Amino acid sequence: MKGIQMVDTKSQYLKIKAEVDAAIFSVLDSAVYIGGKTVQQFSESLNEYVGSKHTITCANGTDALQIAMMALGLEPGDEVITPSFTYIATTEVVALLRLKPVFVDVNPITFCIDPEAVRKAITPKTKAIVPVHLYGYAAPMEEIMAIAEEHNLYVIEDNAQAIGCDYTFSNGVTKKTGSIGHIGCTSFYPSKNLGAYGDGGAIFTNDTALAERLKMIANHGQKVRYLHEMVGCNSRLDAIQAAILNIKLKHLDAYNQARQEAAAYYNNAFANIEWITTPFIDSYSTHVFHQYTLVLNGVNRDELAAHLTEKGIPNMVYYPVPGHKQKMFEGLYIDETNLTNTNWLTERVISLPIHTELEIEQLEYITSAIINYKK
Ligand SMILES: *Cc1c(COP(=O)(O)O)cnc(C)c1O
Repeated sequence: MKGIQMVDTKSQYLKIKAEVDAAIFSVLDSAVYIGGKTVQQFSESLNEYVGSKHTITCANGTDALQIAMMALGLEPGDEVITPSFTYIATTEVVALLRLKPVFVDVNPITFCIDPEAVRKAITPKTKAIVPVHLYGYAAPMEEIMAIAEEHNLYVIEDNAQAIGCDYTFSNGVTKKTGSIGHIGCTSFYPSKNLGAYGDGGAIFTNDTALAERLKMIANHGQKVRYLHEMVGCNSRLDAIQAAILNIKLKHLDAYNQARQEAAAYYNNAFANIEWITTPFIDSYSTHVFHQYTLVLNGVNRDELAAHLTEKGIPNMVYYPVPGHKQKMFEGLYIDETNLTNTNWLTERVISLPIHTELEIEQLEYITSAIINYKK
């Protein structure tokens, strides 16, 4: 059996090597390394795929979030409601811009932001909500958008883990996550569902004026070269990454399907194990399984993790320390009594290997190691 990895980007690359290598060489040959038609093509293809009006590529997913928040013209001290149960980038950029992260709880079943908790956290200073489609499953966008409309707030979707995920509204309309909020952000970090071979990110919006601002901010605040209308930053997707992503975007649906098939194998194997809760799926969202995450009930996680590691089965805790407990946010007033689900999940989640190249033999080995663990 091939060695098991959390994410097997190498095996995936080998299947598209000829095409990818040719695309990289063609960029080298063109000598256009920044911007140019390769980046333009990728940006257009991605825009069409996501079903957004505008797509602005940038250097990484963290920058995408930062540029999004800069474009909304928020003032220092303005409050941004976000889950605490997420990757640090989501909340870090809020603090970086001198805005105030307001951590709210997640639903313990979906792992995504709880609309009722959002409602309770709104104050006159609240300006934006950042739902995260954690592990590849959509946050309840219909409810979030309704709350935002009612209170005149912006919604920035953190879609770094859910590119390709379909969200269905109660009227039957289906949209890709990232195209629903005022702004959507994503990452092309190599292990993400649409991963580059380096860093990359993108920002989506249906608002043309906002798109203009996002583009300017990502480019030193300029529309016309050397005329800087506002303070921006330097955030670009390079042409080599765009060339790779152009190829991988064509495979994205198949990649997500491969993840779903591996997840279905796991779900089926764990269906009757009483100490495991498998990921929740409902009809409102597809699950693109950026992570396959279990909740453990009455089993010591460290001991299980050590057992799996010993058997050559990689495993991870995403994330071992939630945002509200990070030293980085020490100075903030945080009411932990409202974060009970976050604290509860942080102690019980464990993620198993999930990627596009998992083989049946590997899945059998992983699942039997887990099923037999408490026998
Ligand atoms: C990966 C990730 C980011 C940041 O993306 P980078 O490209 O690594 O900067 C932001 N939010 C979430 C939820 C992520 O998983």
